Parts: sequence; C-alpha cells; structure tokens
Amino acid sequence: MPYLYLLATFLFVFGIKKLTSVKTCRQGNRISEIAMLLAIVATLLIFSNLNIGLILAGVVVGGAIGALIAKKTPTTQMPEMVAALNGFGGLSSALVAIAFLLIDETLKDPAKTLWDTGAVNAISTPATIVIGMVTLTGSFVAYFKLSGKKLVHPLAGSNRHLAHAALGLAAVALGYWQIVSGSHAQMSVATALLALLAAGLGALLVLPIGGADMPVVVSLLNSYSGVAGAAAGFVINSPLLVVVGALVGTSGLILTQIMCKAMNRSLGNVLLGGMGEETVAKDAKDYKSIKSAQPEEVAMLLDGATSVVFVPGYGLAVAQAQHVVRELADLLQKRGAMVRYAIHPVAGRMPGHMNVLLAESDVPYEQLWEMERINGDFKNTDVVIVVGANDVVNPTARENSGPIAGMPILDVDQARTVVVIKRSLAPGYAGIKNPLFEAENTLMVFLDAKEALEGIVKEVKELK
Ligand code: NDP
Repeated sequence: MPYLYLLATFLFVFGIKKLTSVKTCRQGNRISEIAMLLAIVATLLIFSNLNIGLILAGVVVGGAIGALIAKKTPTTQMPEMVAALNGFGGLSSALVAIAFLLIDETLKDPAKTLWDTGAVNAISTPATIVIGMVTLTGSFVAYFKLSGKKLVHPLAGSNRHLAHAALGLAAVALGYWQIVSGSHAQMSVATALLALLAAGLGALLVLPIGGADMPVVVSLLNSYSGVAGAAAGFVINSPLLVVVGALVGTSGLILTQIMCKAMNRSLGNVLLGGMGEETVAKDAKDYKSIKSAQPEEVAMLLDGATSVVFVPGYGLAVAQAQHVVRELADLLQKRGAMVRYAIHPVAGRMPGHMNVLLAESDVPYEQLWEMERINGDFKNTDVVIVVGANDVVNPTARENSGPIAGMPILDVDQARTVVVIKRSLAPGYAGIKNPLFEAENTLMVFLDAKEALEGIVKEVKELK
C-alpha cells in the first residue's frame, strides 16, 4: 500500500505542475483527481477496521451536496465558493484532530495526558485545531466580503493589533493546557475553548481587510487550509496527508507571494492582518468631461485599428461575455488586426479568474499577455477595449496614497484610444473614483458588457 501512497503523491506533484500553465491545467486537474482517488483507495485498504458503511454514507451525502452546489453556483460566485471550500478544508482538519482526542487508545487511560501520546501528536493536535478554525472563520468572513457585505472590525489601530496578539497568546496558553491537563474533563474544556478562541481570531484577522486587498487573503487562506491538512496528517500519522497538505500550503504561499507582488503589499503586513482599510465609494457624480459612445462608433473606430487589446475584468464574469469577446476578437483578427488580451493578476474576484473565464471560450493561449509583458506595448496600441474592468486600470494607483496606491496597473491610458465598457460610473471593488473614465483618449460605453460587445460584433460585421 505504501506504493499506492507514493504513486498518489507523485501524481499530486505532477498535477500541480500541470496546473501552472493555462494550456495544461485541465490535464492537471484530471491527474490530481486520479491521485485523490488512489489516496482514498489506499487509505481504505490500509485501515482494515473502518466502518465502511458510514464512510460510504458520508461519500454519498457529501458528494451529492458538493455536486449540487457546483451545479447551482454561477461562475460569478466561484470566488465565494473557493473561499467556502478553503473554510471547510480547515474545519475538517480541526475535526480530525478533535476525533483523535476522542478515539486515541492512550488517552482512554484517565491517568494519561496528551503529551503521553508522543511529542509530535501533542504539538500537532492543538496546532491543527487552531489553524483549522482560523481558516474556517477567516474564509467565511472572506466569503461574505466577496459577496459584497460590509463587515467591520470592532477595534481600530493599535488596539486591534494588541487584541490579536492577546488572542494569539491565549491560544498558546490554552494549547499548553490541552497538552498537559491531567483529567479528560479539563482537556475537553481546553479543546473547546481553543477551538472557540481560534474561530474568533480567524474572523478578527480578516475583518479589517477590505477593498482591493482581498486577493492576498483568499490565497493566504488557501495556504492555511493546506497547513491545517499537513498538521492533521501528523496527528493521525498519515504521511500522505502531510505531503498533500504541505503541497497545498506551499503552493498557496507561493500564490500569496505572487498576489502580494501584484498588489504591491508585503507578506508581513498580510500575516499581521489588516493591511488595507475598508474604503467608501466616492460619488460617481464627481466625474466631469465624460465622453460616451455607442457600439456603432466603437465599430468605426475598430475599422482602422491594426492593434487591439482587450482588458477583461470582473464585469466580464458578471455579464458572461467571454464568448462574445472571443467572437469580436476573431472578427478583428480576420480583418487584419493584431488582437491580444491583457491579463492583470488580480482582475476579477479570485486568482486566475480571467484565465478561467477566457479558457471557457477557448481563447488561444498566445493571445493572453500578462501585465509585465504587455505594459510597455500599450503606447503602440490603437484601441484598448476595457471590458468590465476598473481597479486594475485605475491610474490613481500610481499616486502615493489611497487604497490601491502602489498596485501595479495595466497602463491602458497610454494607448491611442481607450474604450471602457461598463454599465455606469460606479466604482470597482476598491470603491474609488477612476480618472481613466474622464481622460482625453477614453470613450465610455455605458452598457452591459455582453450587450455592448454583441452590438459591436453586429456593427463590425456590417463594415465593408
Ligand atoms: P472591479 O471590481 O474593479 O470593477 C469591475 C467593474 O465591472 C465595475 O466597475 C462594474 O461597473 C463593472 N461591471 C459589473 N457588471 C458588469 C456588466 N454586467 N457589464 C459591464 N460591466 C460590469 O474589477 P477589476 O477586475 O478591474 O478589479 C478586481 C478588483 O477586485 C481589484 O480591486 C482586486 O483587488 C479585487 N479582488 C480581486 C480578487 C482576486 O483574487 N482576483 C479577490 C477579491 C477582490 P458597473 O457597475 O458600472 O457596470
């Protein structure tokens, strides 16, 4: 059976490697699914004294709920679903540690403490409960923030950091009590208090983080769920769980670093919690000199364009305009224009959101250009079409203050003409005004992205 574990581990690593490229990510998913199946089969074979009926019931009920949620969730709510899944990952690790306390043979002896189960088990049990519960509540706060709920931290400034530090120290003290408590009653109290305290800490750490900083939180919580899984692997002495948890933990951490770079934030700030304050949307009426256009005018503009760049953003997902954007891109390419898509790492509401959407409409990979690669080329671009993006093209980021200050953006304002498709002058996720909309070279198309692009496609088809 260890060979099956080894094979599953190898396939997990291979699957993750394949996930790093848009071209091979579907294959990567399949390979990881096979690895998971192998891991489950190997585990069932290794532990012969399992209650198979109960496990099957869990698989059927859990599988049915998962399938139903996956089917019912629209793609616009994928980010919330990812946050919830991270949270459930954390919860299940914490439950594994609690189950260990209930069924471990050594602990059945009333004279034994958690320390008597061995140092590794003793330390990893409270660690799993803490990381798992922090992941659970942190992820659900992220879930509600992603779905637009305005949640605020009860404390501000240094009081907030002091409270977090005090809760962290209290968790260490409770963990110690759990390890050394002489009676099972005491250990149960310590465990319950530890789980509650960690749950509170998780929520409090994510509550103050708002505006544009959520991508870092989502990827960090993903990493935490992996670390909780690895810690649970130590609790139940499962090398496979340790390896898989560590893979998720480290790949989540790498993703966090990529997101930090994309947001120009330091990881230290993120780990302390509360690096960005919630911002209030400015009044859209602040805008002066807005020039708006209709699809016909955009089609005429595109008639003479030799180089066109599409900038997808969250609005593309809301409008489900990924297929029609591809249709327009194909039309323009047939007419001789060079067409590319500029992908900002935090566009949308989850890491890789735009890649996932555009992959749905089979956009050729060579047309997807990352921010660093395309930024120098906007000055040579005839028309940039911003489809439902806002924060990622907001020149305010180049200033020294404000919620997105320092965040690298797509320099679309350097193109000859910028067409922005969105329904209104409403702000994006960061809640701030975007001076791009009133720039000399910008035309606003105030329509739903799908409707606007369908209109432009129709007009381009009628061009001679
Ligand atoms: P934004 O949230 O900045 O802007 C999206 C724009 O889309 C809105 O201004 C909205 O304007 C427009 N929109 C919404 N629906 C439609 C529609 N049907 N048709 C046309 N337009 C529409 O998106 P960006 O992608 O530019 O930036 C992402 C933001 O989200 C960043 O601030 C990022 O930090 C944050 N974030 C990213 C995460 C990630 O992991 N990628 C996670 C969490 C947050 P209007 O209502 O006027 O149409």
